[in-house]
Amino acid sequence: MEFIHDVVIVGSGLAGLRAALEIPVTAKVALLSKVFPTRSHSGAAQGGISAALGNEEPDSWEWHMYDTVKGGDYLTDQDAAETLARDAERAVYELEHIGAPFNRTSDGKIAQRAFGGHTRNFGEGPVKRACYASDRTGRVILDTLYGKAVEKSIQIFSEFVLIDLIVERGKVSGLVAYELATGELHTFRARAVLIATGGFGGVYKTNSNCFSNTGDGVYLSYRAGIPLEDMEFVQFHPTGIHGLGVLISEATRGEGGILRNNAGQRFMELYAPSLKDLAPRDVVSRAIWTEIREGRGVNGEDYVNLDLTHIGAERIEDKLSDISSFAKIYLGVDVTTDPIAVTPTCHYMMGGIPTDLNGRVLNRFNEPIVGLYSAGEAACVSVHGANRLGTNSLLDLVVFGRRAGKMIAEELKQLDFNNHSSNLDEVSRHRIESLLAPSHGERSFPIRNDLQTLMMDRCSVFRNEADMLKGLSGLESIKDRYKSIFIQNRNPRYNTDLTEALELECLIGLAETILKSAIARQESRGAHYREDFPNRDDKNWLKHTMIQNRSDGTEIFYKPVNISRFEPKARTY
Ligand SMILES: Cc1cc2nc3c(=O)[nH]c(=O)nc-3n(C[C@H](O)[C@H](O)[C@H](O)COP(=O)(O)OP(=O)(O)OC[C@H]3O[C@@H](n4cnc5c(N)ncnc54)[C@H](O)[C@@H]3O)c2cc1C
Repeated sequence: MEFIHDVVIVGSGLAGLRAALEIPVTAKVALLSKVFPTRSHSGAAQGGISAALGNEEPDSWEWHMYDTVKGGDYLTDQDAAETLARDAERAVYELEHIGAPFNRTSDGKIAQRAFGGHTRNFGEGPVKRACYASDRTGRVILDTLYGKAVEKSIQIFSEFVLIDLIVERGKVSGLVAYELATGELHTFRARAVLIATGGFGGVYKTNSNCFSNTGDGVYLSYRAGIPLEDMEFVQFHPTGIHGLGVLISEATRGEGGILRNNAGQRFMELYAPSLKDLAPRDVVSRAIWTEIREGRGVNGEDYVNLDLTHIGAERIEDKLSDISSFAKIYLGVDVTTDPIAVTPTCHYMMGGIPTDLNGRVLNRFNEPIVGLYSAGEAACVSVHGANRLGTNSLLDLVVFGRRAGKMIAEELKQLDFNNHSSNLDEVSRHRIESLLAPSHGERSFPIRNDLQTLMMDRCSVFRNEADMLKGLSGLESIKDRYKSIFIQNRNPRYNTDLTEALELECLIGLAETILKSAIARQESRGAHYREDFPNRDDKNWLKHTMIQNRSDGTEIFYKPVNISRFEPKARTY
């Protein structure tokens, strides 16, 4: 079918939903999601959303901005960090007023807790800045915003998978989506398209993301010729359940949890004497891997312990009940008496589709592409720089999601349809036919598995040129294998065999951008740690990496960082 809408929003996580609420009811809006909307990964967010409300102790947006810039190892665009921190208070009270049930202080205010890298008075010590709803903060906000979207009668296309984004002559024309329930292809013509498809932790073997986080919107934008920004900056969260990657929120350490090595030693005292277990994620993840590499993993294995036993059963039940049930279900551990075995897990992508402060997607000349917008983890407004602080993503989603929605509402007044091509789905139809044609070949699962293992081995917490070059050549053979992929299932209904093959193309393409951007950056900054270039090098590398898909191969170029208030300094915690 061909649908015609003024605005199509792809992704119904917090970013997509928050944007949708800004579009006037007079416009025809479609909201597409490949999973049922409330199953978006935003619903898995546990720990909290940051805002310097000062409800538990003094705080200020300037400290928040400083922490965001320093946490991002000075690659953060400071105009974006200022926008985020200044707008945080309004954003959180807005969520409260539309019904998000936050935990409360004894005098009825929104309760707050400590989180990694959030400090008082420009780095003096931890501050309680994360607003939370137990350890299911994302869930309650997602349900609240989804309720608002339903109330606004936004037309929702659930289980519709974006498979092609059409940008012609610098202007968006629309997109092609595959309907899971029927196997039909649909075109959506639109005056404005917002990509809010979330992250792509699925590139890595051990990750904390939901299965559907395969970066489709980011890859399809790249395939459509849009450059991607800072793709080398991949966040590994320090505490994933050993062997599984399932997240154990930083809220555990915010509530007093301690990381210990095989000798029971609180090793973070050595790596971050001031913030200790509450140092930013890149610092803690490297510390854990260093302990493991130097033989101090627990029981000689590749994990350390997260100790919550001193926190007390009542507080755990009140503030960390989901976490304690995860430990019980996956490890059979009672966290009130035994530690949790943890290792770093791929968690968040700092890079993505470049946007301005209002969600407008930028081309290589830093000019907006007409009618194309992005927000949330898929986007890179570069508010997180080289390393995101915990609880800053949920805030990013509602602050920049709202701004993108407002900008669409504003620009819609002048935007018209791009009627350049009459047949938007021709390429997609051909692509699906050719994927379904072979009667034998390799299934997608082993290829995906090998890709994830390759990225884990060659380009994760510690990186060096030799390993990454091996990764790149390994990727070439993965691409070759992908050419002879075989879809066994021919049923048009819920053919996940087919959609997983389509997702795998996205994962392979994104892995290549991560590897190439990481090989090019010959320094260590934030989450990008090069063993062969262990120092930060502001003279040569205080700039954003841009990677673009061109007919003659990929091209890398750079973009300056916005530095308005805080000059880069050595980062100690
Ligand atoms: C386990 C976990 C815990 C976290 N905890 C916190 C926390 O406490 N605080 C914090 O600040 N951050 C946290 N984060 C990070 C944060 O939750 C994410 O960065 C954020 O939710 C991303 O939101 P989003 O709106 O960009 O996309 P998502 O919520 O990931 O949603 C993506 C949407 O895009 C849709 N989509 C994707 N591809 C397609 C396609 N091809 N076609 C159609 N639709 C598509 C999906 O269906 C979905 O609706 C956590 C992340 C994880 C994984």
